[in-house]
Amino acid sequence: MGERRYSKLEEALEIKSLRRIINAYLNYPDAAEADVRRYERSFKKLLPADKALLSHLPSKFRRLRQCISLNTQFIISMLQAFEPPFDMSQDIDIDEHGNLKNVSGDHLHTEVSSSSQERDICTGQPVSATGSIVSGLESSNFCSGNDVTPSSQKSSNEKKEINMENLCNSVADKSSTSEHHTESCISGDDVNVTGDPASCCHDSTDNGNVTSPHDWMDRSLELNVPLVDVDKVRCIIRNIVRDWAAEGQKERDQCYKPILTELNRIFPGRSKERPPCCLVPGAGLGRLALEISCLGFICQGNEFSYYMMICSNFILNHIQVANEWTIYPWIHSNCNTLSDRDQLRPVSFPDIHAASAGITEGFSMCGGDFVEVYNDESQEAFWDAVVTCFFLDTAHNIVEYIEIISKILKSGGVWINLGPLLYHFADSYSPDDEMSIELSLEDVKKVAFHYGFELEMEKIIETTYTANPRSMMQNRYFAAFWTMKKKPVT
Ligand code: SAH
Repeated sequence: MGERRYSKLEEALEIKSLRRIINAYLNYPDAAEADVRRYERSFKKLLPADKALLSHLPSKFRRLRQCISLNTQFIISMLQAFEPPFDMSQDIDIDEHGNLKNVSGDHLHTEVSSSSQERDICTGQPVSATGSIVSGLESSNFCSGNDVTPSSQKSSNEKKEINMENLCNSVADKSSTSEHHTESCISGDDVNVTGDPASCCHDSTDNGNVTSPHDWMDRSLELNVPLVDVDKVRCIIRNIVRDWAAEGQKERDQCYKPILTELNRIFPGRSKERPPCCLVPGAGLGRLALEISCLGFICQGNEFSYYMMICSNFILNHIQVANEWTIYPWIHSNCNTLSDRDQLRPVSFPDIHAASAGITEGFSMCGGDFVEVYNDESQEAFWDAVVTCFFLDTAHNIVEYIEIISKILKSGGVWINLGPLLYHFADSYSPDDEMSIELSLEDVKKVAFHYGFELEMEKIIETTYTANPRSMMQNRYFAAFWTMKKKPVT
């Protein structure tokens, strides 16, 4: 893939976007503390006799605070391990029209894609317009400029480091290597968290006030974080359970197992010397991509959310042993819980140590927008398989997604898809007139056939997505599951 340098404006937008995301992570403890204070205020309003009846609640609030503190400890360690792909110390200033101002206040050049309503990365639902800061930045490509082809693998197996393409290496300085990244790895021993909330004691936060060794972390910290951003951090925590905790096994069996079984069936005698190449667009926290890699494929996950990439980078590259961390993913909702014990239960992760899982050489995660990164000549007829799981409905234009999937597959290559059609940009509250092509399953297949696919297998799979297994509410999807083959051109 050709060299692509960022324009000053693009870089400024990326930095702004990244700061906003880091800021959301850093504000996690304050936002969670605000919730606990709200519970306390409500509790105070109870009649004295009812307070006496529920006298255990103040101790629950104390335990909630301990859990928040331990979750924060994880978040801070994850951020400390993150090497931003940009020089985050730069002074950037983008005015209200999206123009970049240089230090003296001159405008450099204009035109910002001020698109994009934020979307809920947990449910896929569009979320209300509380996210006031211009977005769409998250979709900017932070992979471009790097070679995304597995043939040029840079992941070094000896160092047991998974290549996070262009996430860890500075865009401005391509010579920075993954060794640099390794050096920044924080020893799990230093920051290990036990499953006991009472054992809370740590250096990184002091009553929720973050102090960090990274200058850019301090510079990112702002007050007044849009609620939608804080929600995303909570969603990431739920995604950790889906992908990397024993509790998520049931959901992984529903979603990932059928895909892995299909890959196994379709590539029975795959070569160990020249393993087939598989792309996973919208890879989330990377578990499915890792499983595919362990199955004997050169697998690349593609993901455009920094929220996700910061977290998957930590889990894939910086965690040293299975179950090194314990978090409290379910503390943020008092709704539909069977008991306080359920709500406050610890969840350890990762259930497996990624680097010891038996990945096939060449496993990588590539940050960037699927359309921008893979709609490129170098990708044409490159992949033996494309796997999309809960991804198709993230498109502004699903027809474009399907066209690109077809284009990048080799003749005879397979596309395995599992997911609903909960279009992310449907019912958009955004003032911008954003494109959103919302097709029925029947029409999605019609488009796929037009772009050269033939159906091999089709089923409906019942599954949840980031559900709390002990909640009284479980949203179920009846997800479409198919294997399509790209017909050889005759
Ligand atoms: N496949 C994962 C994640 C599904 S959620 C799983 O099953 O758990 C959809 C993911 O696609 C999100 O992580 C989102 O950030 C990512 N995504 C959405 N649009 C994208 C795009 N255009 N390019 C790359 N990733 C995208």
